[in-house]
Amino acid sequence: LFNAFVIEDEGGKPKGGFKQLALSDLPDLDVLVEVAYSTVNYKDGLAVSGKAKIARKPPMVAGIDLAGTVVESRSPDWKPGDRVVVNGWGLSETQWGGYSRFQRVKPEWLIRLPDAFTLEQAMGIGTAGYTAALCVEALENWGAIQPGGKEVLVTGAAGGVGSVAVALLAKRGYAVTASTGRPETHDYLKGLGATGFIDRAALLEKGPPLQKERWAGGVDSVGGVTLVNALAQTVWGGAVAACGLAGSSDLPGTVLPHILRSVALLGIDSVMAPAARRAVAWARLARDLDPAHLAAMYEVQPFAALPELAEKIVAGQIRGRVVLDLNA
Ligand code: NAP
Repeated sequence: LFNAFVIEDEGGKPKGGFKQLALSDLPDLDVLVEVAYSTVNYKDGLAVSGKAKIARKPPMVAGIDLAGTVVESRSPDWKPGDRVVVNGWGLSETQWGGYSRFQRVKPEWLIRLPDAFTLEQAMGIGTAGYTAALCVEALENWGAIQPGGKEVLVTGAAGGVGSVAVALLAKRGYAVTASTGRPETHDYLKGLGATGFIDRAALLEKGPPLQKERWAGGVDSVGGVTLVNALAQTVWGGAVAACGLAGSSDLPGTVLPHILRSVALLGIDSVMAPAARRAVAWARLARDLDPAHLAAMYEVQPFAALPELAEKIVAGQIRGRVVLDLNA
């Protein structure tokens, strides 16, 4: 028997708790992975704390990420001993997830971990970091941002997506302005490469539909008025990659930045991103994420701390990223 964190249905509401499972309890999928580490993303916080109904088919093992080693495989693509990562693919929503010492998954969900990373570092990155890489990739492909050019805005900068976005952008030579509500994180964000700061309160105040053009582009994990202001302050032809709703899921803006300044709103979903895009994002992380920056970004916590960490992340109190050690 081994430990797992399972979401159950209690009178129509999600209720999570630790449970002992056997291998025979796991879904009948082709690859058995011994999970070494998982992590706590914002969505995990919502699922574990019960603040949102993330698990759609309870009882379900939660956790949208896992990193571990293949133990058994019915697929020719994977063999015992392979070091693998899974991000998204409905884990903890429609499929059993990473909060379990062992899990069975579909072969096509697995990514071979780049040699650059240990299993622990892979979860230091996790879905939040891989999504940040998807955002930077989208901004570059759109042609919105140039190294040495106008500033790039990162909102929710001290959070998981934000921290990795700051580090990836700075490494490529973009001038990064970090928006955070936590001034005590400025030194940390400077260490990751941010050169400018804007108080998150300034972006939470509703402004005119077109504002002074400040940003070549942006990575937004906050949503709501923050995203609308980011779009309204983006230069002609720029773009904002939107991936989150840590502030709000609303989009209370106008079409003016889009039709008068050709500003693009690039939507980013990591969960169902095709394998080719994932590979590109992970290759970017291996190339551009400085190991010292990554080390500064995450802390390792024991599996048992999960419920407490979930409450903290939804309250916006986690700096950077959290790795969960499933053996501790
Ligand atoms: P996180 O670590 O909690 O970071 C979110 C950050 O947003 C916080 O650290 C905080 O930054 C800021 N924030 C929190 N509440 C806020 C509020 N009420 N108003 C303004 N800013 C606020 O979470 P994460 O794991 O990085 O995820 C960030 C968001 O991206 C979440 O909404 C998550 O669901 C989403 N996401 C989406 C995808 C996708 O596939 N689309 C993938 C990963 C994550 P400061 O303290 O610096 O202000």
